Amino acid sequence: MRNAFVWYIPDMRVTPEQAALVSAVLAFANLRPLRSVAQVQKLFRAVPGATAVFQTIPAKDLPAFKRDQRDVRDWLAAIATREAERIRAVEHAVSELFPKTVISVYSLERHTVHWVFPGVQACYVAGVALILTRPLALARRLGQCRAPLEGADGICGRFRLDLAGKPRRYCNDEHRRRFDAADAARRVRKMRGG
Ligand SMILES: [Zn+2]
Repeated sequence: MRNAFVWYIPDMRVTPEQAALVSAVLAFANLRPLRSVAQVQKLFRAVPGATAVFQTIPAKDLPAFKRDQRDVRDWLAAIATREAERIRAVEHAVSELFPKTVISVYSLERHTVHWVFPGVQACYVAGVALILTRPLALARRLGQCRAPLEGADGICGRFRLDLAGKPRRYCNDEHRRRFDAADAARRVRKMRGG
């Protein structure tokens, strides 16, 4: 089947299709500012299973995409905390939404299940489901950069998930240094009882 996402069960390594989906979902979560429907389309166009449906998104859907982005960011942030209870809440939400958004098609010839994504929500529900799939062990590779923003309140907040090598949390060395400096300052204030 063309334009379908193939979900291979037998060996629990991440397939190129799965990697493409996870990376598109992270790119969507990290996309700031979200300016146009075309931006979102471009991100998901490379994902097998999304190609056909994503050609006809009306421009007026942008507010819905912003809500989608908020949802996926909340979920990824919860997973990145490594807190069991928060992860369980995401697992619950994803399990509920999965059958309502992702279309699963079983092939009698090939004994495979294809995923078809009718919209952005289906893409990120499936992507977060992959991150939470325990044998793939991707959840502990997900990190959220906590570098303080320069000249503003809040943190950088970008997500990353490296499929190989040591899992990293910060965007780059500069952001890691910025976090360490802010953290050290926080500790000093705490020691002084301030
Ligand atoms: Zn960062």
